[in-house]
Amino acid sequence: MLIVKQDEPLRVWVARAKEYLLEFMSQYGCTEEARNMCPCCSGGEALYRCSDCVTNSLLCESCTISRHTDIPLHRLKVRVHVN
Ligand SMILES: [Zn+2]
Ligand SMILES: [Zn+2]
Repeated sequence: MLIVKQDEPLRVWVARAKEYLLEFMSQYGCTEEARNMCPCCSGGEALYRCSDCVTNSLLCESCTISRHTDIPLHRLKVRVHVN
């Protein structure tokens, strides 16, 4: 008979909390690696995120335009650098 303690899921999460946090932050472009290059072409700075595409990744201008030539009604967000 398998007995699972109630706090076992929390212990699993705590052990991987930093990994979850970094992944969450990268979705919003808040990590150093997320600030770098476009994951699609690796040639341009990743500045654009589409609220309607499934991937939700930051892309460069060129890749954003090429992905949206046939879907002009998607909502795009532009990341702005603040010094
Ligand atoms: Zn690109
Ligand atoms: Zn889109």
